[in-house]
Amino acid sequence: MKPTVTLVPGDGIGPSITAATVRVLEAAGAAVAWDRHVAGVAAVEEHQLHTPLPDETLDSVRRHGVMLKGPLTTPVGVGFRSINVALRKEFDLYANVRPARTLMAGGRYEDIDLVLIRENTEGLYVGVEHYIGMGDDPHAAAESVMLVTRYGIDRILRYAFEYAMANGREKVTLAHKANILKFTQGLFVEEGRKIAEEYTGRVDYDERIIDAAAMQLVLNPYQFDVLVMENMFGDILSDLMAGLVGGLGMAPSGNIGKDAAMFEPVHGSAPDLVGQGIANPTAMILAGCLMLDHIGQPEVAARVRGALDTALAAGEGLTPDLGGSGTTDGFAEAVLRTLDSQPGS
Ligand code: NAD
Repeated sequence: MKPTVTLVPGDGIGPSITAATVRVLEAAGAAVAWDRHVAGVAAVEEHQLHTPLPDETLDSVRRHGVMLKGPLTTPVGVGFRSINVALRKEFDLYANVRPARTLMAGGRYEDIDLVLIRENTEGLYVGVEHYIGMGDDPHAAAESVMLVTRYGIDRILRYAFEYAMANGREKVTLAHKANILKFTQGLFVEEGRKIAEEYTGRVDYDERIIDAAAMQLVLNPYQFDVLVMENMFGDILSDLMAGLVGGLGMAPSGNIGKDAAMFEPVHGSAPDLVGQGIANPTAMILAGCLMLDHIGQPEVAARVRGALDTALAAGEGLTPDLGGSGTTDGFAEAVLRTLDSQPGS
């Protein structure tokens, strides 16, 4: 029986890159039954639902445990809070896995192949913050709480080591700021050293202070392999790493929990591109590949990645963000044409 995957096309460019992705995955032989649902602005405005995160969508993820999702718009300042954050919380998707791999030659760097693993549920992003009033200024100061637990740190570090083992990776680097944040970040270093000992001889371990890691990722990214870090540091450095391989249009992400997983592009709904049909579907297709790896169809994922590599190398149908003048559908066609020449076809 085909596994069922909850499919949420998302907002803005989401529906067009999702349609392109489904075509490519199915043509490559993905054995998946899609359970289509809505969330975000699409749920409220197009489907006139009262919530951006309908129960039907949540129930589908609860039932099937896997979701492929396009980007969702979060209104700025007003309206509902981020649905992405709500989904990560609801399903305790604690590990955010963000691979950055060179897909097109001729960029600033060649042959980048890095994976950043970001803690997804703790740290400053728990959103515990408040203003402190002084005199007649109610916003004279503000305070945010960085909350971490040994439990949360332990499980993300273990995830990084297990990921390295399962994916033939040699080294895990913990990026931290324990020189300044001696407690919240010190706990990462304490746990990191302890867990690293359990993997001695199987996975190498080293540490970098986060600001030095940012500089070294630009100067010599090849010294890294798997990087692991707390939530906000991971948010920032994973965008830096997307920049090493050509930008947000090339970067997928997996949000993994014990009982559910959600795969999505790193980029947002790109309101500036809506209706033009020129969004790059690569990150969404790669998110589909991560999903296929997760549900035990890595050979199909490899065929799709191979087809993407070939199409990008040939420079056929490239979208404007990659220097071409192609369209979302045109690029999907180019990928489909190269599928037949991939091993295993
Ligand atoms: P964005 O990622 O949507 O866009 C940033 C820039 O990248 C824009 O110039 C856009 O045109 C370009 N871009 C993004 N995806 C592209 C693609 N596939 N092909 C070509 N160019 C692409 O970021 P933003 O403008 O800050 O956010 C827009 C909306 O998306 C906001 O509501 C934000 O909250 C939301 N968002 C959602 C997610 C998510 O669902 N995981 C992530 C980030 C932002």
